[in-house]
Amino acid sequence: TIGILALDIAGNLSGACTTSGMAFKMRGRVGDSPIIGAGLYVDNEVGGATATGVGEEVIRTVGSFLVVELMRQGRSPQEACREAVERLIKKKPDTAKNIQVGFLALNKNGEYGAFSLQKGFSYAVCDEQKQDLLLPGASVY
Ligand code: ASP
Repeated sequence: TIGILALDIAGNLSGACTTSGMAFKMRGRVGDSPIIGAGLYVDNEVGGATATGVGEEVIRTVGSFLVVELMRQGRSPQEACREAVERLIKKKPDTAKNIQVGFLALNKNGEYGAFSLQKGFSYAVCDEQKQDLLLPGASVY
C-alpha cells in the first residue's frame, strides 16, 4: 500500500491510499485499502490514518478508524499507531507473529507517527523545511 496523509496551509486534512493487493490473492478479494475506516480514515476535526500490510487483519480491527479515534481521545499519532498494532497482537498473538501490519497517522496539529508489527516499513515526511525518510518503531516479534 502507498498511503498519503496531508495537512494543507488552511489546516485541512486529506488522505489517499492505493494498493496492489496481496500476492496470490483469492479472485475477488477486497483488501482494506478501498474500505474507509480500514485502510484509510480522515476526520478533519482530529487527524488521519492509513494502513499497510495484511488487509484482513486491518479490516477486523477497523484499524485506521481506530487510530483516529485514539487520537481523538488524546493519544499522539505515534501512540495511537502503536496501540492499534498492540490491539491486533492481543487479539491474534499467533497470527501477528507472521504478518506485517503498519499504520501511519497525522493529526490536526501536524504531528505524525507510525508503528508496524515488523521491521521494514518506512515513510517520508515532507514540509516546507524538510524532506525526511523515517523508519518507525516496530514491535519486538
Ligand atoms: N493492505 C493491502 C491489502 O491487504 C496490501 C498492501 O498493499 O499493503 O490488500
